[in-house]
Amino acid sequence: MKPHIDPAAFEQYLKCGALPATTLLDCLAQWAREYGDRLALQDDQGELSYRQLDLRSTALAGFLQSRGLGAEDKVILQLPNGCGFFIALFAVMKLQAVAILALPGHRQYELLGLQEAAQATMYITCSQLADFRYEVLAQALVDQGMPRNGVVYLDVLGDDAWDACPQLPARPAAPDDVAFLLLSGGTTQVPKLIPRTHADYTYNITAMAEACGLHAHSRYLCVVPAAHNFALGCPGVLGVLSAGGLVHLLPQPDIMRLCELMNEQRITVTSLVPSIAELLIEYLEFSGMSFSALELVQVGAARFSKESARRLKQLLGCELQHIYGMAEGLLCFNRAEDPEQAKVDTQGRPLSSFDEIRVVGEDGQQVARGDVGELHVRGPYTIRGYHARPEINEAAFDAEGFYHSGDLVRVDEAGNVTVVGRVKEQINRAGEKYSPSDIEKLMVDWARIGECAVVGVEDRQLGERVVYFIRPIGPGPSRREVCEYLKELGLADFKYPDAVVLLEQLPLTAVGKIDKKRLALEHA
Ligand code: AMP
Repeated sequence: MKPHIDPAAFEQYLKCGALPATTLLDCLAQWAREYGDRLALQDDQGELSYRQLDLRSTALAGFLQSRGLGAEDKVILQLPNGCGFFIALFAVMKLQAVAILALPGHRQYELLGLQEAAQATMYITCSQLADFRYEVLAQALVDQGMPRNGVVYLDVLGDDAWDACPQLPARPAAPDDVAFLLLSGGTTQVPKLIPRTHADYTYNITAMAEACGLHAHSRYLCVVPAAHNFALGCPGVLGVLSAGGLVHLLPQPDIMRLCELMNEQRITVTSLVPSIAELLIEYLEFSGMSFSALELVQVGAARFSKESARRLKQLLGCELQHIYGMAEGLLCFNRAEDPEQAKVDTQGRPLSSFDEIRVVGEDGQQVARGDVGELHVRGPYTIRGYHARPEINEAAFDAEGFYHSGDLVRVDEAGNVTVVGRVKEQINRAGEKYSPSDIEKLMVDWARIGECAVVGVEDRQLGERVVYFIRPIGPGPSRREVCEYLKELGLADFKYPDAVVLLEQLPLTAVGKIDKKRLALEHA
C-alpha cells in the first residue's frame, strides 16, 4: 500500500541520504543474520532470539495467509506488550498486509470506529488481559462485517497451526510502502490513521538508537504500550533490536514489577510517560531503591514538570531525556552533551537535520525566535497526509507539505523546543490523548444530561485530570453512574472522568461558548 506522499520529496530525501532505501523486513532479515541466536525479546512467558523472531513471524504469516490474509488487507492488531506483538507485527508485514496498531485499552467504541475507517478483514488479539475478555470486541467486529475466520487469538493458537509456509508476495515490499498504521493521539471514534512507511520508520528507529547511544549490550524495559510510537520506535523496541540489544516487555505498567525488573534484568534504558515517572519518584523516595545498570531514562508523550525532572534525575543518577514527539513523525529530544539547563527546561532539538520547523502565530506568519506559536513541521519521517481522510488532510497539511501539529511551542536560540500548550482541544491524560467533543456528544445523548463539558484540569500525577462538568436534567448522575454509562457504550476506560462536577449552569465566554478555561482554572 502506498501512503499519501509526495513522490518527488521522497526521492529527494532518498537521494540526499535523509532516508534509507530499506524496509523493516530487510532490517529483520539482517538482524537475524547478524545477531542470530542472541536474545531479542523476553516477556513473563518466554523469550525469542533474533533468528526465532524471524522464523516465528514467517510461520505465523503462513497461518494468517491460510485464514485469507493477503497484500493490502488491513488487520487490527490489539495485543499487550509481549513477544507475540512483534511476531504478529512482522508476520503481517511479510504478507504486505497493513497492521493498525490499536492500544490494549481500546474498547468497542474505538474499535468499531477503526473498523469503519479501515474495513479491516482481520483482528489479531489475545483472549484476556487482566479481567477483560477480548472476545466481546471480536464479536462486535464480526457483527459489523468482519469475517469470523478473521478473528485470531494469538495466545490460544497451537504451535502446529503456525507451521504453514507462506507464499510471500511476488514483489518485495518497497521502502515507500506503508509498514503499518499508527493511531493519531487525538483519536476520535472515526480515527485518523497514520501511514508510516518502511523507509521513514527504519530511519526513525536507527537514527534514534544511534542518538541514544544504544549498543548490543543495551537492555530495554518496555513499559508503555508497544503500539505507541514512543515505545515502538523512538528508539523503543525496534530501535533496541536494530542495535542488537535485548528487550523485556511488561504487559501492564505495574510500578513494583517495573522496579523489580530494573535490577533483575539489569535494565540499561527505558521510556516512561510522566504519570509513571511520577509514581516512580514516589516509589524510589519511599523504598530507597536504586538501579545500578540504568544509563538512560526517556520521559515523553506529555508534559513533565521541571521539578519532577530534576528530582527523578537525582534519584536515578542517570541520564534523563525529555522527548517530544508525535506519531505523525517529528521527534525532538535532549542530547547527552546539551547544557544541564536545556536538558531540564526544554524538550530538545529535532532528530534529523532535514526536519524543518516553523512556529506560526494566529496571523499565519512565523513568530520571532523565542515567541510562542503553533508548530508546523515538514521532514523526511513526518507524514504528508492521513490514510483516506482528504477532508482532514486539507486542514492539517498545507500546500508546502507542512503538518500543522496543533501544539503551541517556543524555540530558543539553540533550536531547543519547549511545548507550552495546544491550539486544538485535546485531552492528554497520562499520555493518552483523545478529543473531548466526542464524549460531550455521547453525554448529551443521555436523557439525564442537559449540558456537559469535558475538561482537562492540570494535575501533577496525570498531567491532566479529566473533569466532566455537567448541567443535569433532574438529579445529577454520580461519577460511578457516568462510568457505567460509558462502559455500556464501550469506551476505553482512560476516557472515564476522574471527577464529576454538577452545576446549575455552565459558564459561557463572551461569544456564548462554554468557558472551559474558567472551569479548568476554578477547579485546578
Ligand atoms: P502521540 O501522537 O500520541 O505521540 O501524541 C503526540 C502529542 O503528544 C504531541 O502533539 C503533543 O501534543 C503531546 N506530547 C508529546 N510529547 C510531549 C512532551 N514531551 N511534552 C508535552 N506534550 C507532548
